[in-house]
Amino acid sequence: MLSREKAAVRIIDRNAAPAAESRALLVNHHTLDLLRDTGVSEKLLAAGNKVRSMKLTIGGHERARLGFDFISHPNRFLLLVPQNVTEALLADSLRELGIVVERRTEFVAARMDPKGLGAEIDLRTGGAMETTRVSWLVGADGAHSAVRKALGIEFPGAAYEYDWSLVDIKLGPDIEQDCMELCLARGAPFLARLPLGNGKHRIIANDPAVEELIPDEWEAGQVFWRSAFKVSHRMTDRRLVGRAALIGDAAHIHSPAGGRGMNLGIEDGVTLANLIRETTVIDPALMNKEMEEAMRTRFRQWERERLARARATLAISDRLQAIAATQSAMKLLVMPWALRLINLLPSVKREVLALLADARQP
Ligand SMILES: Cc1cc2nc3c(=O)[nH]c(=O)nc-3n(C[C@H](O)[C@H](O)[C@H](O)COP(=O)(O)OP(=O)(O)OC[C@H]3O[C@@H](n4cnc5c(N)ncnc54)[C@H](O)[C@@H]3O)c2cc1C
Repeated sequence: MLSREKAAVRIIDRNAAPAAESRALLVNHHTLDLLRDTGVSEKLLAAGNKVRSMKLTIGGHERARLGFDFISHPNRFLLLVPQNVTEALLADSLRELGIVVERRTEFVAARMDPKGLGAEIDLRTGGAMETTRVSWLVGADGAHSAVRKALGIEFPGAAYEYDWSLVDIKLGPDIEQDCMELCLARGAPFLARLPLGNGKHRIIANDPAVEELIPDEWEAGQVFWRSAFKVSHRMTDRRLVGRAALIGDAAHIHSPAGGRGMNLGIEDGVTLANLIRETTVIDPALMNKEMEEAMRTRFRQWERERLARARATLAISDRLQAIAATQSAMKLLVMPWALRLINLLPSVKREVLALLADARQP
């Protein structure tokens, strides 16, 4: 966004190479809308697997099915793209604009300009240190963010008690490729199957041993990636310090339920870039006190909106995680009826699907 306005942008990453793991899968509708102008959405749609329905099975038997044809968006499906593919497409798009991520380059420290005009930052590449001035510093450096620590912003919250594990795995040819599946069984952990295309699926469970829960009839085959993890619920109560901002996991982390983490980070980044672009195109010679105050107000508004959006997203993810984790017999009774009822009421169905897809009206 910024580089298209010819604003000089550097993106640094301390890792030698991009992460190879599939991690986040769901690219939601709002993200596709935000990235449409960059051309990346088209590429994501071409690369991803389109999921057109969701079924609920209890003890191995299908009890309800919800079609996604009512999603209030031209894309009436959920798009699943492995995060490493999404990141590669974003990096390609940056390269086309002449920006290459500077790897093995670590952010070390920042000293903010006392007049709020940016920061002086220290970077380390190999053994070499570099100090440089930037008009904006954006920390997108993940849950253990060094930028957040340098800005003195707290990251309050706690670890959830839940265990999660996932596996990306080949399943048999009879397993539906365009339908995701939620599996419940009496006294068993929650299991979900997300199809990735070409016979590959993500299976995720709120249990440390997902592979032991895969039904025999799914004909589990080659494993591509597995991970077991606990998650935390944390969020900053600020996003801005002068001309420094936090986006993505540096500012909020939560459970994978609902597939919101990566989407929320992209949304943070695009909305901030648009706002910075608006301010950088103004000739500094023309800037007066009123304009400066108006700009500050816009950034404070951005911060308020992002905090509210993160708070709401964490609440949704918490609720979905709690529903997934409950092993009560009541859930087995209520869930199929709830899904059937949703199917019968178009307005409710539209609401539920909008929540699932995070779809806004086009
Ligand atoms: C197992 C797993 C499954 C997940 N599943 C989902 C899912 O289904 N849906 C979903 O939406 N999300 C999911 N997530 C979360 C999602 O992957 C994250 O929300 C997303 O990666 C956050 O992106 P980010 O860029 O903010 O942080 P990160 O992806 O953590 O990237 C931070 C980057 O900053 C770099 N960095 C760190 N410190 C420094 C420094 N000092 N200097 C320079 N560079 C630095 C790192 O090398 C890294 O490349 C999952 C995560 C995991 C681990």
